[in-house]
Parts: sequence; C-alpha cells; structure tokens
Amino acid sequence: MSLSPLFNAYPALQKRIPLADIPGQQIPTPVTHSLDTPQLWLKHDDLTNAVYGGNKSRKLALIFGKMQAEGKNRLLTFGGTGTNHGVACAVHSKALGIDCEILLFDQPESESVRKNRQVMQRYGATLRYSGSLLNTVLRFYTLQIRDRLLRRKQTEYLFAGGSSLQGVIAFIDAVFELREQIERGECPLPETIICPVGSSATLAGLTLGVALAGLPSRVIGVRVAPTYLGPFPACTVATVKQLMQQTQQYLLRLQGGIPPFNIPQPVLLDQYYGEGYGVASAAGNQAEQWFRKQRWADGLTVQSECTYTAKALAALRDELATASGPVLYWHTLNSVQGIYSEAEAV
Ligand SMILES: *Cc1c(COP(=O)(O)O)cnc(C)c1O
Repeated sequence: MSLSPLFNAYPALQKRIPLADIPGQQIPTPVTHSLDTPQLWLKHDDLTNAVYGGNKSRKLALIFGKMQAEGKNRLLTFGGTGTNHGVACAVHSKALGIDCEILLFDQPESESVRKNRQVMQRYGATLRYSGSLLNTVLRFYTLQIRDRLLRRKQTEYLFAGGSSLQGVIAFIDAVFELREQIERGECPLPETIICPVGSSATLAGLTLGVALAGLPSRVIGVRVAPTYLGPFPACTVATVKQLMQQTQQYLLRLQGGIPPFNIPQPVLLDQYYGEGYGVASAAGNQAEQWFRKQRWADGLTVQSECTYTAKALAALRDELATASGPVLYWHTLNSVQGIYSEAEAV
C-alpha cells in the first residue's frame, strides 16, 4: 500500500497507525470540476475502493488496520436498514476474512435502502433488526458491556458510520491528500469544502485536517442525522468538537511528530435536515436534479441519494450562489455499481 500523505508529512506516525490492505482500495481519489457550474469542484471519494467506494471505505482502512494489529476477527456495528456503512463493512470484512454483524434500525424504505440490505446479506453479514435508532444504540452498548465483563476481546465494536478515532484520522489524512493535489496543481485551493454529516467523523477529520495542514479553506458540514438520540446529544457542534478533541489528544499521545494546534470551531448547518434521517426533502430533490445534469471534466458519472447527498447538495447550491472562489464538494457516496448488479442476479 502506498504511503499515506499524513505519513509523508509525519513519517514517525507510520509505525503507530496501522493501515489494512483492503482489496480494491484506490486512494488518493481524484478531483474534478464541473463543466457547467463555474467554481464547482468535486473530490471523488465515491471512488475510494474499486469494489465499494464512499467515505466509509476510507475510514475502514484504519479501522481494520487497528483490528488486525489487535488480533480481532469480528466486527459489530450498526446503522439504518439501508446503511452505506454496513455495506462497506460487509463487503470489505468478507474480503479480509472478518466476521461482520450489523444491528439495523428502521429507516424509510427506498430503492437504495432495499439494494443495500440485499448486498449486506449477500456478502454474508449477520443482520439483526433492532427497531428504533435509540433501541439499537442501547443494544449495541449492552452487547459491548457484556463482552467486556466476560473479557471477550475478539470483537471490535464500531459506532455507526465508522465514527471512531481511526475514522477521523482517515479524513485528516484525506486533507493532506488534497493538499498534495493542490500543490501539484490538480485543483485550486478551495474557499469552502462541503460534506454531509451523519456520525460526524468526516466533518471532524476534514476540519482538523485543514487546521493541521494549514489550509485557509472553510469546512462546512451539512447535518443529515438527528441532533439527539433520546436524551443523548448525537450530532451537534459540541459532539463534533468533542470527537475532534479526542482525536487530537490521541494523535498527540502517539508522539508521531504532530505539534499541538488550535482546534477550530466546526461549522454544522442545521437547516437542510428537513423531516428526518432518510426522509427526502424538497430542496434536496431539486438539488439532486441539478447535480445529475452536471457534466464533469473527467467524464465520470456520479450517484446521488436522498439521505445524505441530496441535503448536502442543497447547501452546496446555496454556497455556490454567494461564493467568490472555488467550492469543493466532498463526494462521500459510493458510485461503484458492480456489487448491486450481482445482487440483482441472486
Ligand atoms: C455515512 C455517510 C456520510 C456521513 O459521514 P459521517 O462521517 O458518518 O458523518 C455522508 N455521506 C454518505 C453517502 C454516507 O454514507
């Protein structure tokens, strides 16, 4: 596996942050720009992996790396019935010989939800329907505590969306990757970087990464998940900031040469969320139609869906209306379709 850009910047980190060699991984991901909308750039994290891309596959290289280093052979995680994270876990776990179990919470049914569920099954993940999001989270923590009490150590308990220190570091690394692309002239310095926000690791990592890499870009997260799970804050400026602080402390403890740096205030937009997680919004639908008409300089086609992408695209359009410089959309949604056609054939 090629050296990660974060390790290029901080060589001593390399021994301290293990990366799994996931089959099909293709990082760095390219950048491109729209032929129709001046100032619109796109970071192709839809292509992080040739079998199944998206932002989860970027996180999983570090998450599986940690598991392998700790000798764990089982992964337990959770997500909505159409979870992209679950698909990434199922597909890449199978390739690496890891057992994968996914607790599923109810999410509005749609074509992409149905297809994702089929793929998780087809790739041999154990699926357990657990009702509401809150119930599912409680079940996740109950199982984790039971394992701890029984001193069972073979299972990695991974929060929804792959939100973890490793997940955040993957996106710090991603900013160093972008910085190399800017330095090579493949892409201009973005005035703003926009991404959807679910479990927050992507936003936390991009915001930390921009600060550490010294880029003047502003990172904007668009919230697509509920702020609270029952009584617990889940997706707020405070929870994102906490994740950033934990990750920074972890990185400083690793003593890989990273200097102390100021943690910026994360930017999290609330007004595009609409009626709920996975519930399509009118503004999102319109933005999706606009996005599908874009022609990209590299000639590639990108996908969209209503849970994450459409809502972030609505914010992207509003940002483009007032931007005075390049706006980079961080495309977090897988666009590799092969696993879906196989699933159809079963
Ligand atoms: C999971 C997901 C996100 C959210 O990323 P987080 O790091 O969990 O905030 C955004 N877009 C897509 C397509 C996703 O599947």
